[in-house]
Amino acid sequence: MNSYQKEQAETLSMVRRHLASISAPERRGLESQVSEYLVFRDEVDAFLSKHFSNICTQKCYQSKVSACCSREGIITFFGDMVINALVSPDAEIKTLMTVLQKPNTGFKCIYLGNYGCVWRVKPIVCEMFLCKQAKKEVFKQKPWAEEVWKELKRRKKLYTWPDRPVLFDALERYFMDAGYSSPLMYLHNSPGLLSIKRKAKQDIQSRSDCIS
Ligand code: SF4
Repeated sequence: MNSYQKEQAETLSMVRRHLASISAPERRGLESQVSEYLVFRDEVDAFLSKHFSNICTQKCYQSKVSACCSREGIITFFGDMVINALVSPDAEIKTLMTVLQKPNTGFKCIYLGNYGCVWRVKPIVCEMFLCKQAKKEVFKQKPWAEEVWKELKRRKKLYTWPDRPVLFDALERYFMDAGYSSPLMYLHNSPGLLSIKRKAKQDIQSRSDCIS
């Protein structure tokens, strides 16, 4: 198990342990917190399947290139882990734990199984990745679809980009308040993201100073 797999496995196991320990109402509260995001993810899935499934199947899956999943250590946010754990049956979480224990011998992502990604709700970085070639081919024929894609990318930020209160930040905070920490809590430990949060706070402060 390399250090990437270790971080992933420890975080997943921590999330799983906590979710197993909380009361049913607390869990329902978390489920309701992520529900709007899941609707957004369904919309992205529908868009990708309508416009990109043909080209991705031909170019990548049939040729076994799977370019999107060829990186060994894909970035997963702590929020990705929590959301996926909330919606996945226990058997799927066990599958994730099992793949993380195996040595990664290829040049593909550890989570890429024989039938695709083993996450139920895959990491947001993966969901929003389209290779240059696919974008060029699809958007050349359907320029309006490019506008829809831009709008989906803008909406993604409403859950993940901490220039305002966002779901991914709140999920990290919830686990931190329960006494947990993980290197995947990027919204609380990445210098770049922390500086975005600081700037957002300063902007709010200066706006409220102007009003008062
Ligand atoms: S997590 Fe899933 S979608 Fe993302 S790179 Fe790995 S196999 Fe592909």
